Amino acid sequence: MPLTLPIAELTTLATTRQGVVATTWCEERVGDVFRAVSPVQDVTITASRAAEVIEVHANVSGRFGFDCSRCAEPGELTVDTEFDHHFVGPGQLDAGDAIEGGAADFDADPDVSEHDGVRIDLDELCIEHTILALPVVPLCHEDCRGLCPTCGCNKNREACLCAAQPERASPWASLQDLKLEPKA
Ligand SMILES: [Zn+2]
Ligand SMILES: [Zn+2]
Repeated sequence: MPLTLPIAELTTLATTRQGVVATTWCEERVGDVFRAVSPVQDVTITASRAAEVIEVHANVSGRFGFDCSRCAEPGELTVDTEFDHHFVGPGQLDAGDAIEGGAADFDADPDVSEHDGVRIDLDELCIEHTILALPVVPLCHEDCRGLCPTCGCNKNREACLCAAQPERASPWASLQDLKLEPKA
């Protein structure tokens, strides 16, 4: 069920309501990194309307699973984000300066869009802001030590001796012994 608000129900008095957005978007849009933990994510919408201009404040939360970018262990995180959005009447975004009431100021603002005069749809906005709030590099915990590049062990759980080996494999190791003598 899409998250929509009938415009006729909105007044200058801000009202708050709860809703949900289905997390079916997750697989298609961020499925290479994240998976939805629950079939829906919670949304709290506060909305008011002055003539045709609707002001929305939304809180979006949800829980998502992922494989740690460093150690590949499964982890989960909670997204809890909020955003403001304005809706203006049909045709007002393109109307430029011909429209009175300040709608022209909204041109090219990503936080402003047009409604159809009947309802506002909030699913896509909630999804976009959730995606923006997801980390680019999700980690099981902030100081995850990752996998050893030499033996592949998980360094959060095991202490391998690879790093303690002498650096004989490095072609640069011998440079440490070089000393530049000033010319006499
Ligand atoms: Zn990790
Ligand atoms: Zn190792």
